[in-house]
Amino acid sequence: LLPRARASQESIFARMSRLAVQHGAVNLGQGFPSDAPPAFLLDAARGAVGRLDQYAPPAGLPVLREALGADLGVDGADVVVTSGATEALNVLALTLYGPGDEVLTLEPVFDVYVPQARLAGATPVMVPMRLDARGWGLDLPALRAAVTPRTRALLLNTPHNPTGAVFSRAELEEVVALARQHDLWIVSDEVYDELYFGDRPVALRTLAPERTFTVGSAGKRLEATGWRVGWIACPPGTGLAGNVAGIRQQGSFCAPTPLQAAVAAALPVARRDGFYAGLRQEYAGRMALLAGGLEALGATVYRPGGTYFLTAQLGPAAPDAGTLVERGGVATIPLEAFYPTHGAPQGMVRLAFCKSRGEIEQALDRLAAAL
Ligand code: GLN
Repeated sequence: LLPRARASQESIFARMSRLAVQHGAVNLGQGFPSDAPPAFLLDAARGAVGRLDQYAPPAGLPVLREALGADLGVDGADVVVTSGATEALNVLALTLYGPGDEVLTLEPVFDVYVPQARLAGATPVMVPMRLDARGWGLDLPALRAAVTPRTRALLLNTPHNPTGAVFSRAELEEVVALARQHDLWIVSDEVYDELYFGDRPVALRTLAPERTFTVGSAGKRLEATGWRVGWIACPPGTGLAGNVAGIRQQGSFCAPTPLQAAVAAALPVARRDGFYAGLRQEYAGRMALLAGGLEALGATVYRPGGTYFLTAQLGPAAPDAGTLVERGGVATIPLEAFYPTHGAPQGMVRLAFCKSRGEIEQALDRLAAAL
């Protein structure tokens, strides 16, 4: 094996989706929606293909940067468009840290944070989240204790994948104080910014504009995860977007031009027509269906404040996630997959509820037989 390949193995999401297809399982593993994207997005794409088929500028199609600026309340000049949020995170890893640097992040950790930091030559340092009667949250004392003179950045997501936690304003103010005290960059992955069930998530850039890079995703916002249109909003008025775009063009050069144009057209429509509110309402219903069904089977469910995932302990008799996908007909993500350094809570899985009601019901039927 090539030595660098050790930094990155098959993603747990790709693996569970592959096994789901292979074993005919209902896929509550990888987080992609069963529903089609909204018609206003698809119509805009049809109008753009055949018209806008050549390269866009690496920083993004100007109309999309402008639309994102308006949507996020920032200047479009500070926004860089990427091929999905995954590339956005990788570009930031390559731009902000390197050999000798430590990147502080949480455990459970979204899968790409660790390999991306390592491929950039940096060392990821994981701080476990707390899990108690209040649910999942930040362990602020542990986060503070993990900062060293080598720490360069704090990398977190809110709403948090895989737990669905939405960090409170008070928690995030503490994070910002820590970043200011040690002069750390904040990389805030906010791809689920419009998908919440209680209080609206606080955007870290509103608390610390001078040091926050916000990552977002049209795939998550508009139910089109295969389109690969993501973005980075850089600290305003710093010119850092130019640096980020310079690194960004070394990857895929630009995100797909016609899809950028379609997203630019769709963003204001989604806001104006209450698309996100509709999505929240629909997913709140599916979350209740899945959570209630699991609880009826004896599982302990941690209800999320955002994202389209919940975490659950299926119970002492539950088969492990590998057995469940192969013999029980349901794909989930074992929480161990998000704990590369510390031990995961026993027997816990992440389940996605961005699937159709029919799929959720079928998964519950199969779980009833398997548990
Ligand atoms: N964000 C998705 C999830 O958590 C998957 C991302 C991916 O597979 N690239 O399931």
